[in-house]
Amino acid sequence: MKSRRTKELEIPKKIKLIVWERDNHECIFCHRYVEWNFANSHYIKRSHGGLGIEQNIFTACSRCHHDFDDTPKRKEMLPIAKRYFKSLYNNWNEKDLVYKKY
Ligand SMILES: [Zn+2]
Repeated sequence: MKSRRTKELEIPKKIKLIVWERDNHECIFCHRYVEWNFANSHYIKRSHGGLGIEQNIFTACSRCHHDFDDTPKRKEMLPIAKRYFKSLYNNWNEKDLVYKKY
């Protein structure tokens, strides 16, 4: 059986579809069209307890997703993603994006 933590960090298909619609079916960085299953980038990484909720998930093409997760470009991309989330959600707060045990 999966732990509760593992479950909460996963992105349900329902959330991916909501995020994909929200992001106009585009990578939020380069605005390339992508399929719904690309709505799977975590703002706060899963390894840091980032939740699979729409406030923590965005759409990215495979190149931008890779740059964001695994390269120094992350430093420039983070503020772009942050600004984007803040424009979408009034009380968007990084603290709410992380799994809490209790
Ligand atoms: Zn892109």
